[in-house]
Amino acid sequence: MAQSAAPAPAASTAIPAVAPISLKEIAPWALFVGVLMLLLLYFVGAEQGATSLVSGENVHEWVHDGRHLLGFPCH
Ligand SMILES: [Zn+2]
Repeated sequence: MAQSAAPAPAASTAIPAVAPISLKEIAPWALFVGVLMLLLLYFVGAEQGATSLVSGENVHEWVHDGRHLLGFPCH
C-alpha cells in the first residue's frame, strides 16, 4: 500500500487583527461599572448594619452570606 508523500496543506496561520480600544471609549463604562460595584459593596458591607437606607431586614438577609464571606462585621 503506497502512502502519499505529499504534505498536508498547512493550516492558515494568519492571526486576525484585533482593533485596539482606546481609554476614551472604555472610561465611561469603567466609571459606570465602578459605581455599580461601589453600590454593591455598600449594600453588602454596610446597609442595614452600620447604616440603613432601606427599612426592614430584607437587604441584610439577601446579602448576609456575602457579608460574612467578605469579612464585614455582622453579628
Ligand atoms: Zn451575619
